[in-house]
Amino acid sequence: MYDSKFKHDENSSNTKKNHTVDKRRIHLVGWDKICQDKRSGGLGITKAFERNVAFSTKLLWRAMTEDGPECWNPDSFAWKGQKDGKFDLKAAYCFVLNNNPSCYNLRSINLSWIWKMDCHYRIKIFLWKIAQNGIACNGVLASRNIPVNGVCPLCLNDSESPCHLFFLCPVSKLVWKVGASYIKPIVCNSFESWVKVNASCRLTSSSFNVPHGTLSAYILWSIWIARNNKTFNGIEVSPNSVFRLALAQSAEFIYLASYLWPDKPRVSIDLR
Ligand SMILES: [Zn+2]
Repeated sequence: MYDSKFKHDENSSNTKKNHTVDKRRIHLVGWDKICQDKRSGGLGITKAFERNVAFSTKLLWRAMTEDGPECWNPDSFAWKGQKDGKFDLKAAYCFVLNNNPSCYNLRSINLSWIWKMDCHYRIKIFLWKIAQNGIACNGVLASRNIPVNGVCPLCLNDSESPCHLFFLCPVSKLVWKVGASYIKPIVCNSFESWVKVNASCRLTSSSFNVPHGTLSAYILWSIWIARNNKTFNGIEVSPNSVFRLALAQSAEFIYLASYLWPDKPRVSIDLR
């Protein structure tokens, strides 16, 4: 009995501890942004309150149109949100969501290019974070008054913004240079458009069958992994290894994906 009580208390204590730790986590992209529709730049995660209101409305709608007293005339009810007048749960949820004051000032950005990419889903989420300025670079954290040294951990010479880390940093430049025979990044006038234009480019060279966009996205991801290994584990960055990892992972994805999409020809890629 005491054991079980002890375990119970221990579990409660752990739960509280986890909750406290969880509270300290840094959320660089706001919950309202995350819950935006994918067409507006969010991840399309549903909010509990708004979803419950939509479900309640659905129940009310059913009661009024299907199970209501005979004196009700179902023909007199029409759902304004749909052309055919029928109730639509998703439309009701969007209506409740869009009428929440916390969503009034949210910027709508078109990130549909991310969801169309040929890459692993975790890479898509990573690109989505870059597009939403939600990558936890030291410079971004420092600009939000989080007490960190804002310097780039790779070159120790500049503030670590996403643009610096993936594009301007001398170490990252070496990574792109190592891969120059496989990929020549398309030049753009801003970092945001550089990521979008390069990552969404579906061209493949005749000698290498991985799309330009897939390889560039995996290079960005590989730089981020190397940066975290340096920051948290003290592992020095080898530009050659960073590029080789991106090349291997992107080639592996495209090779395996050809099993999922039988209409696409399966290719073998020489990585030597
Ligand atoms: Zn740097």
